Amino acid sequence: MYEFTPFYYHPLSYSQHANLCRQWEKAKAASRAEELKRLKRDRFQSALDKLRQLGWGDELDLLAPKYKPLTRHEPLRAAQKLTDRIWQNIGGGVVAILEDIRDERYRTKHTEVLRKRLDALCTVILNKYSNSPRTVETEYKPHMCDIITMPEIREIVHSSNDAALGSQSEEKVRALLPSLVDHWQTRACEELTRLASRWTKCAEGADVLSLAATHFVCSVCTKLLPYPEVLAHNCLRYLAPVLFRHPYNQYMIYEIAAWTVGVNGQPWNSQLLIGPGQRFHERIRTIIKLCGQDPDRTTRQELKNLNVYISYPRYNDKNRVITLRTAVEKEWQCWTSKSRHDESVEYKGRIATEAELSEAQRGGQEVLWSKHDYPWCCSLCTPRGDDRSRFSLYGIQAHMQQMHSINNASEKEGNFYAYPECGMQPF
Ligand SMILES: [Zn+2]
Ligand SMILES: [Zn+2]
Repeated sequence: MYEFTPFYYHPLSYSQHANLCRQWEKAKAASRAEELKRLKRDRFQSALDKLRQLGWGDELDLLAPKYKPLTRHEPLRAAQKLTDRIWQNIGGGVVAILEDIRDERYRTKHTEVLRKRLDALCTVILNKYSNSPRTVETEYKPHMCDIITMPEIREIVHSSNDAALGSQSEEKVRALLPSLVDHWQTRACEELTRLASRWTKCAEGADVLSLAATHFVCSVCTKLLPYPEVLAHNCLRYLAPVLFRHPYNQYMIYEIAAWTVGVNGQPWNSQLLIGPGQRFHERIRTIIKLCGQDPDRTTRQELKNLNVYISYPRYNDKNRVITLRTAVEKEWQCWTSKSRHDESVEYKGRIATEAELSEAQRGGQEVLWSKHDYPWCCSLCTPRGDDRSRFSLYGIQAHMQQMHSINNASEKEGNFYAYPECGMQPF
């Protein structure tokens, strides 16, 4: 007799039934996932096969086994067979990725060749340059960043794909260098003459660059710069600061290669210079006139030879004795400072008397200079970049002793020199 068994008494209880259902569902989902995975794998593999047929084998070998940028490319991740029609649509995008990789590989290879050739070039140039110890005059010659961008030098670096520069090229650089340096200095002087003539009064036939009244202003840091110091000013070879990497875009491989061998500046750029303005120029002329000189023709050297000093009123009753250079720099500070801005062309100082001068010199020559804590540069170190180390007197003597085994180093012996733009430079 059929006996009615309520559902909940059935041998296969409700919960068992649900369990089975879940297992079935899981198995089905797993097999579906497996299927999708297989479709994706096949699609990716077909794409790799097609790319190899198209000649991208070398690039694919580089990316194997993970094929990273390709695996992230969305059209290759779809779970769908890669038909010829689909490939026609997405193939271009995939090939573009490999083109980038190939270009990058060529660039890296080429940068490495340039790096080695530039490295050898820098060594040749520095050996030639450092035949005699550096002086402040060396600062006024083209720096490494100027030399390596000269067309003649670029041509030598680019003349071969050989990582070694080669003795023939090295000889060529050594032979060319003196005329390249001369040419650079002549061109720089021409540019400066053209600029200075715009705002400097100059007697007919006089050389405007050598005039004591001639000054330039750096538009980056607003420093007042005489010639020739303007040739050494840092901002004019300045490069935007970077963290860890070079500041160039990937296509500037010559510049990147130069950066990696320590040449970290841009060529000297006179476009960053402006004039100090007509009224300030008049004030400098007033100072020169005080010395009994004609500002239209007196040169910096002539003014320096006069050996005159300025007595300048201080807030207390005493006057301060300063060099002509310090006098001009102080005027510029007042001129550019908002709080002490003074538009008059009148000058408050006068020539120092003998008595005032000997009183000031009792405290040593340094009191006449405006204070610079780190003015000294080593004559024997030849850095490639424009980040030249500067030292205090104690610092430079310790450096000469430790690095060059020179005891009691001195400026007089030519062991070190004062960096341009310091108070002890001539007017
Ligand atoms: Zn500057
Ligand atoms: Zn040194």
